[in-house]
Amino acid sequence: MRFISVALTCILLIGCGGETTSSTPTAGAVPEQTYQWKLVTTWPKNFPGLGLAPENFAKNVERMSNGRLKIKVYGAGQMVPALEVFDAVSQGTAEIGHGAAYYWKGKIPASVFFTSVPFGLNAQEMNAWLHYGGGLELWREVYEPFNLIPFAAGNTGVQMAGWFNREIKSMEDIRGLRMRIPGLGGEVISRAGGLAVNIPGGELYTSMQTGVIDATEWVGPYNDLAFGFHQVAKYYYYPGWHEPGPTLELIINKQAYEGLPEDLQSIVEVAARAANQDMLDEYTARNNSALVELVETHGVQVKKLPDDVITGLQKLSVEVIEELADRDPQTRRIADSIKAFAAQSKAYHAISEEAYYNAREK
Ligand code: CA
Repeated sequence: MRFISVALTCILLIGCGGETTSSTPTAGAVPEQTYQWKLVTTWPKNFPGLGLAPENFAKNVERMSNGRLKIKVYGAGQMVPALEVFDAVSQGTAEIGHGAAYYWKGKIPASVFFTSVPFGLNAQEMNAWLHYGGGLELWREVYEPFNLIPFAAGNTGVQMAGWFNREIKSMEDIRGLRMRIPGLGGEVISRAGGLAVNIPGGELYTSMQTGVIDATEWVGPYNDLAFGFHQVAKYYYYPGWHEPGPTLELIINKQAYEGLPEDLQSIVEVAARAANQDMLDEYTARNNSALVELVETHGVQVKKLPDDVITGLQKLSVEVIEELADRDPQTRRIADSIKAFAAQSKAYHAISEEAYYNAREK
């Protein structure tokens, strides 16, 4: 009898494709392996919107995995400085990081395309390009040599042009302007005769207050109110020509990700996708009430960039993007991919989103 029972167990195991070589059934379930990850970010701990995205991501992953993957979130400077997140995750000091691809343009010039392109895609279009237009595949190709797997994990929607202590009446006013503006927007400001710098968010208030910079872009009313920029700047300009739909990123150390079983990999992927959409929902819900508070309570002067400045910046943006694309074949492929995608989404959005925005104003 015993022989028959053991033989039957063997057949059942083989039939189920089980990989176990034991012919006797195990007495109890083997405890599942648990994983502990460190998540480093470029934002102050728990900063509204940007900083809450990695916190929510970590909570969702822990809940969905029933505690099998626990992720501890570190704010900028708690484990590594904001602008060292990329290296920390690349080297495996932390398994995962949250930030923005364009912070790494010194290392990877093409990284800017995966955050935002001046006068380029809005949030909806950026998500479409990344997830259905080949963008994410290109992004993974670019980060591959750095041992990193990127995921889209947040989008702020169209930003504001920024906070200025100098009125911008013409392109001449950009000459000599010291402005914190990362990515391709920064290249454009430099080309217009300004001095573009990148400073982490947490240091911007002091930089404006002490006059180290004359202007800074950050995000939009909801985030900018939290930093208190209205206390150190006179004018709040729109529109955010430089960041019409910037994507935030989660970067994961390749070995750490590949070391996860498939179900946990899926949980990470889906939680990143949820964080990506959730941030846009939050900003869309909260920006206007923050703007009202900035204007009505704090007397902020909201100004539109003059049309000839917009036209001037647009012309320079095309030059900057084309020159960057000419650096190497890979960058050219990325630039062309995003350009082709923008052309087709613009064509359809002319009779959908744009036509509808115009229609509802009537
Ligand atoms: Ca920004």
